[in-house]
Amino acid sequence: MSTKDKSLTVNGRRYAWPKAPVVVVCIDGSEPAYMDQAITAGAMPWLAKALPMGTKRLADCVVPSFTNPNNLSIVTGAPPAVHGICGNFFYDRQAGTEIMMNDPKYLRAGTILAAFASAGASLAVVTAKDKLRRLLGHGMTGICFSAEKADATTKAEHGIDNALAFVGRPLPSVYSADLSEFVFAAGVKLMERYRPDIMYLSTTDYIQHKHAPGTKVANDFYRMMDGYWAELDAAGATIVLTADHGMNAKHGSDGKPQILFLQGLLDEWLGAGKARVILPITDPYVAHHGALGSFATAYLPEGSDVAAIAKRIAARAEIELALTRNEAARRFELPADRIGDIVVVSRKEFVIGTSADRHDLSGLDAPLRSHGGVSEQRVPLYCNRPAPALSADARLRNFSAFDLALNYAEPVSQPAAQRRAV
Ligand SMILES: [Zn+2]
Repeated sequence: MSTKDKSLTVNGRRYAWPKAPVVVVCIDGSEPAYMDQAITAGAMPWLAKALPMGTKRLADCVVPSFTNPNNLSIVTGAPPAVHGICGNFFYDRQAGTEIMMNDPKYLRAGTILAAFASAGASLAVVTAKDKLRRLLGHGMTGICFSAEKADATTKAEHGIDNALAFVGRPLPSVYSADLSEFVFAAGVKLMERYRPDIMYLSTTDYIQHKHAPGTKVANDFYRMMDGYWAELDAAGATIVLTADHGMNAKHGSDGKPQILFLQGLLDEWLGAGKARVILPITDPYVAHHGALGSFATAYLPEGSDVAAIAKRIAARAEIELALTRNEAARRFELPADRIGDIVVVSRKEFVIGTSADRHDLSGLDAPLRSHGGVSEQRVPLYCNRPAPALSADARLRNFSAFDLALNYAEPVSQPAAQRRAV
């Protein structure tokens, strides 16, 4: 069988073999308004030209609208109920400890990346932060490294020696726009040198947490990305752009964050420390959001009237939804064994905290913008190629990014492209 007719099935979905190099980009925290406003401001000349000839749709990400669950959904083509990663933490009730889910041993499904690599495709994955690298690269042969640790790559572990020298840029700070720029600079270099069949590039939302759509800093960031995408496009790549989640302002007109402290509330209702609130956004890099997002899960004491407590929480003005474990697992396609007795989602303008003394907000040097809820579920699903067979009214998901790139995107015919260029 020639590779032209070859396809692979991964987690129940069939994927055609790439006809041209495929680049899937996950722009962390890219609320749709960022690209809309940057295009309007003239900051994205390549995208402004590419979209009318390509595909411009919106899709829903996975709730919790957090980074890891969504990146893993994109590379597995499946929701967290299948791959198991539903946040940065889950609570081991028996051990009484919070367990970090950064380790690939918590992954319950293989990735599209690993499947194509074992079928003989060449793969390259570049992430901004190192926390995602091992999960995304699990079981995959090929190149896989993070911008954060580009100075410590080896052929054996990352598929490339000294990625820092290869990319030829200084090592970026983990709290910077440079961290994401490094990802794209690496992507362009990798395309020139190795022309991988499939590339996955994933950025960090450092800019989106601090700067609203249409601001100068945001537009400059999107202008930077646009320049690199133009280079990948010129190399003949099929490019799909999506996001792990959106991003909204979570502060009042006074600039102060609007927080419901859920642990405090449950302590008041049930007794101090009886319930355990888990904020799965918590990670080692909290300075830009203070571990405050719009999603929480709570473990209630034995014998609690779970439905009644959920109802009482849902009645709060700050809250959009409070669901029991099974309701949440069904509605958001989550692994029921890795969420608490209740799942709580706040409204667009609010975040959920544990208690005031447990959030260090000293690193917040701008009014809080964050994510995690249903209000951050809408994300772009764009492609530089047309996809006429894609249903016009179906609910699209960000984890259909590889489906769009491999099964729906139509290659541009050379003569037509040349005609347009004249
Ligand atoms: Zn993110």
